Amino acid sequence: MKIAVYPGSFDPMTKGHLDVIERGSNMFDKLVVSILVNSSKTPCFTTDERMDMIRKATSHLKNVSVDHFEGLLVNYMKENNYEYILRGLRTVADFENEIQMSTMNKKLNNKVETIFLMTDVNYSYISSTLIREIIKFNGDVKNMVPDLVYEKIAQKYGRTKDEDHSTS
Ligand code: ADP
Repeated sequence: MKIAVYPGSFDPMTKGHLDVIERGSNMFDKLVVSILVNSSKTPCFTTDERMDMIRKATSHLKNVSVDHFEGLLVNYMKENNYEYILRGLRTVADFENEIQMSTMNKKLNNKVETIFLMTDVNYSYISSTLIREIIKFNGDVKNMVPDLVYEKIAQKYGRTKDEDHSTS
């Protein structure tokens, strides 16, 4: 059974993430989307909120589950007998970071393989970091995140649908 982990902060989950999850779920028997919990950072959405949003957005994918972890990814993988890491690549900057990270993970645990999926051209400009900035200044992220994530942003940050129509 080939099980992959798709680790990330998913703060919040975007359409780019969802696309990687959908394509990844076709490649592995099981895909675990796992939120890296960094207790030194204050996220926009709590771990529970992020897990809930990912669960709902992936409910149509029967081999996808949602989890979270703290600390080293390779330790988490070893504890759970996971062998594959799934990551997305958007830019050259992603590539540089990812090659360093995947090489380090391989040094730490030789059994772990990282598999990369190139971003879909429609989502290459989307990052959670930018989404958080846009939310902060009340900008419109409607086309960049799954609908239910958009609803959650509206609930939590008080943006109404009427306001969005006026800016689109
Ligand atoms: P971000 O980098 O957007 O802040 P994460 O840290 O949660 O988000 O990213 C987790 C993984 O998802 C990384 O491998 C990242 O490159 C990938 N990813 C993020 N956004 C996209 C996108 N729009 N298209 C493809 N992959 C993406």
